[in-house]
Amino acid sequence: MPGSNLLIRRGEGFPEGDPFRMYLSLLPDLRTYAREAVKEAYSYRPEPVEVGSAAFSIVEGSEIWALTYGYNTKAEHDEKSCAEKKDLEAAEDEGMTRTIGMFNVSDNTIEQNRSITDIPSLNLPPCSVCHGDFRAHPVARPEMLIATGGLKHDTVQINTAERFLRLQTEEPDLVLYESYVGGLDGERLVRAYDRLKSQQKFSPEVKRLEPHQLVITAVLSHRDLIV
Ligand SMILES: [Zn+2]
Repeated sequence: MPGSNLLIRRGEGFPEGDPFRMYLSLLPDLRTYAREAVKEAYSYRPEPVEVGSAAFSIVEGSEIWALTYGYNTKAEHDEKSCAEKKDLEAAEDEGMTRTIGMFNVSDNTIEQNRSITDIPSLNLPPCSVCHGDFRAHPVARPEMLIATGGLKHDTVQINTAERFLRLQTEEPDLVLYESYVGGLDGERLVRAYDRLKSQQKFSPEVKRLEPHQLVITAVLSHRDLIV
């Protein structure tokens, strides 16, 4: 079996049988792993851009999953290689067929993020090379969740690959989904998710949220939903 040296761990079984719920519960861990991964990043530039990423991926139709990580590298005369790409390649090497979501961190200024992605964002959005990588990688999906954060602050943005792409191409006025998450408590996030999910059965079918939309809504609203 192929394997990756960027594997964090593998396992089998999703609590409640729901990989999106599991991704949400893992957000604090993914952020911790991404912050560790930054330490391996390398950029020759005078103002280096260092990015770490950790992803939760599955084998569709089973309950097999893997956590992988990646970090960016940019040597002086080489093309840059993004953390997100390494993360997806590691998931693929582990035999995964779909990445549910990732968490990317960097410590850039808003101005640095604007110069890299054209978006004056607190956290680093995927760059144009990343969007090409997402299209090229069989484990990535348009609805793949991309949480972004920093090294020293607690504001998390959570969007899909498709939403970032729209923002960076035809819909520059789109607002990034962003939430101050305090200590980022996985149990609290999951409680918000479960509550939203149970409310779905009272909604008309056409209005029900997809699982990735439930994850985003849980992150954005968990402080209001749970007393
Ligand atoms: Zn990139």
